[in-house]
Amino acid sequence: MGLTDRWARKMDGREKKIGRGQQMNILAIGAHPDDLEIFAYGFLAAAAARGDNLMLGVATDGAAGGPNPGPELARRRADEAHNGVAALGKPVLLNLPDGQLANAPDAREVITHFIRSAAPDLVITHAPEDYHPDHRALSAFVSDAAGFICPVLFCDTLMGVGFTPDFYVDISPHFTAKQNAIMAHHSQSPARFASASAIMNRFRAAQCNAPDGHYAEAYRMARRFPFADIRDLLPPPPPYRPFYVPGSDALI
Ligand SMILES: [Zn+2]
Repeated sequence: MGLTDRWARKMDGREKKIGRGQQMNILAIGAHPDDLEIFAYGFLAAAAARGDNLMLGVATDGAAGGPNPGPELARRRADEAHNGVAALGKPVLLNLPDGQLANAPDAREVITHFIRSAAPDLVITHAPEDYHPDHRALSAFVSDAAGFICPVLFCDTLMGVGFTPDFYVDISPHFTAKQNAIMAHHSQSPARFASASAIMNRFRAAQCNAPDGHYAEAYRMARRFPFADIRDLLPPPPPYRPFYVPGSDALI
């Protein structure tokens, strides 16, 4: 079945009623086995809590992510990938070559097939300006695969460098689970990434004037017709808090 046919049938069946209050199919794909946990776990947990269906993907095998690269590390990281997102679902491991995603001969085809066969309502992946070449390559492959058939949401970069968000998602109820998910990646000395997540997610919440103890993840949409405004698809932001109101629940 052609992509257009499949999409038309899917859209006919649900009469194009996605959005707030509607169950969605959300596909999230990270470049390496721990990326979904570090960059998008809170969003995915919030989406699961409201009843969305999650499809999780890991593009590379992670074989280059450590001092002893190779198949044994890839096997270990596959187990960690499953453990990290166990509360959200079973990830699909695409096993493309770690560190070489941009030049892997079949990477574009594999990623395109994964996304289009799932026919998601929303795709989450890395930002095109993120620090790691595999993240940037995946961002481009995913954006091209999703095309105009569904919106793409870019997650924050590592430590937010160069990233200007459109949207913030309140992950406070899921922050502890996110930290535990990151810590499941024992091969990666994960405490450093848990610490980075704590700083980043606290900072993003603080940008919304949320007081200590609140956490947020930041996202930016890929600007492409007809997805000019997709806020109706997202879990809620931190509560609105005006600037300096004495006695209010706010940071400043
Ligand atoms: Zn990564």
